[in-house]
Order: sequence, then C-alpha cells, then structure tokens
Amino acid sequence: MKPARFEYVAPTTLDAAVKALAAASGEAKILAGGQSLLPLLNFRMARPALLVDLNGIKELSFIELRDDSVVIGALTRHREIEHSPLIASSLPVMSAAMRHVAHLAIRNRGTIGGSLSHADPAAELPMMAMFYCARLTVQGPEGRRTIAAKDFFVDALTNCLAPEDIVVEIEFPILRHDGWAFEEVARRYGDFALASIAVSIRRGRSGLDDARVAVMGVADTPLRLAAVEQQLRDIEIDDRMPDRFSELVTSSVTPNDDLHASAEYRKHLLGELARRALRTALAAKG
Ligand SMILES: Cc1cc2nc3c(=O)[nH]c(=O)nc-3n(C[C@H](O)[C@H](O)[C@H](O)COP(=O)(O)OP(=O)(O)OC[C@H]3O[C@@H](n4cnc5c(N)ncnc54)[C@H](O)[C@@H]3O)c2cc1C
Repeated sequence: MKPARFEYVAPTTLDAAVKALAAASGEAKILAGGQSLLPLLNFRMARPALLVDLNGIKELSFIELRDDSVVIGALTRHREIEHSPLIASSLPVMSAAMRHVAHLAIRNRGTIGGSLSHADPAAELPMMAMFYCARLTVQGPEGRRTIAAKDFFVDALTNCLAPEDIVVEIEFPILRHDGWAFEEVARRYGDFALASIAVSIRRGRSGLDDARVAVMGVADTPLRLAAVEQQLRDIEIDDRMPDRFSELVTSSVTPNDDLHASAEYRKHLLGELARRALRTALAAKG
C-alpha cells in the first residue's frame, strides 16, 4: 500500500520544527530514520496531515562525554552508537546490545530518538534507557524539560510526549561497575527479542556492592528490576548465586502469551538468560 496524502516540511532548526508541530494541532508526525514510521504510513495505520522531517537539524546528531554521563543526540543513528569507542568504553552494555538491533540497513537509518519514541517493548534502546536510568531532554512550545526513562515509557508503543514535543538528547549516567553482561534470544538474527536481560555488578568484600538489572520482552515496557538488584546485594557470592538470581528474575515478571511465544516460554527463556548473564558478569573479575 501507499501512504495517505500528507504535507512535508524539513526545518533546519529545532525552534522551526517545534513551531511546525504546534501549528499542526496534533495532526503532525515527526520523521527521523523512518524505519518504524514509514511501514505505519504505508499500511495507513498512521495518517498524519504533516510530516516534520528532523534530518536537516544537524545539532541533533552527536555522542559526547559530559561529566559522569554520555549524552547522545536524538538523531544519532544506531550504527554510530554501535561503533562509537566512547560508548564501548563508557556504556559497554549498550555497545553489546546494539549488535542485536535489527539489520544493517535499518541500523544505518534508525535513530535513538526514534527508537525511544516508538517505545517498542522488545527494542534494545528503550531497555538501555531503563537500564542506565537515562534522562531524556525534550523540547516543546514552552521550552525544554527533562523526563526520566521510567516516566517516559507508558505502555507498549506509547510514550508520555505531547504531539508538539521533540526528544532532543538523552543522557546516560555511566555505571562504575566491574562486571556486566547482555543476553538476548530472538527467533532470527535482527528480529525483535523474545526475551532479554542486561546485568551490571560491582563486587564488594563478600557480596555485591551494587547491581543493575533490566529486562525486556516480558512486559508492555522494558523493566528495571530494582527489587531484584537489592535482593542480589544480600546474596553471598557462590556457585548457587546464578540459580538464585534466575529464580528472583523469573518470579518478578508476568509476561503475556502472544503470537511469537507463550508466557511460560518467555519466562523460561528469561530464567536461562539471567543465569547465563550473572555467570558472565561474575567471571569478569574474581
Ligand atoms: C524489520 C525491522 C526490524 C527491526 N528490528 C528491531 C530490533 O530488533 N530492535 C530494535 O530496537 N529496533 C528494531 N527495529 C526498529 C528500528 O530500530 C527503528 O529504527 C526505530 O524503532 C525507530 O527509529 P527511527 O529513527 O527509524 O524512527 P521513525 O520511524 O522515524 O519514528 C518512529 C516514531 O518516533 C517518533 N519520533 C522520531 N524521532 C523523534 C524525536 N526525536 N522526538 C519525538 N518523536 C520522535 C516518530 O514520529 C514516530 O512516531 C526494526 C525495524 C524494522 C523495520
């Protein structure tokens, strides 16, 4: 199918883009990499009166270190994140996750702002935003504001933005940890995940000083498992720790059945991935 008729503008400044969105009274859509939006237009599941193309706004594309965070411009392509030495050294879990995002052609065009805004519950970048407790800077008609990732993802394919809002940049605080792992199962290479887990730990004298755990594919949004992180800190490090971790993770999620997998199967996958991920993270040091 072909899209319904729409008008098209390609502003070169953020202010002009916000004005164009505001003038359209909720009838406009932002175009970034187009990898999720264009199929929706072609199937006429979205029928915006206006497309506001962000690709001419050069200030939206960057990766930089700011204090203890890495900040990524919303128009930065998946491929740039995948190959960034700064991301590899400062956000290694994200670097590993990027290799699971779709196919090369999609990674060449897809952007981080588009992926977060699309809010697919089985997409790697929304999960990374939850994992790193990212903060999104958003510009709307009233100016800029910051939204924590945990407040940004509202439901499957639903974020908290107003139609005039543009995600401008995303700040990822760096975790000072010494072991980490990212594990995922998809039916084929490049498919969305059936289940996935990210783990990062810092060892103390007898147990873990700090832990971070996020999962996806098992709920309507990616989840950070803060209660599991706390419980993990209370467990002694020994050979049984990965099994106990696996139990904690599976008992804290309630996936749904869907076309791709049963809830039971997703839970089973997640448990196995959790075990594997913690073994890898623990093996990094000690
Ligand atoms: C076959 C296929 C397989 C895929 N597999 C995966 C996968 O395994 N993992 C994965 O993570 N992703 C996957 N994707 C999605 C891909 O990563 C997309 O690129 C991404 O989800 C959307 O990014 P985009 O820049 O193309 O956004 P677009 O398609 O341009 O936009 C997506 C949505 O976000 C809005 N938007 C875009 N930018 C902004 C902004 N700055 N501020 C506010 N709203 C904005 C748009 O209006 C639209 O609603 C897949 C896509 C396809 C087609």
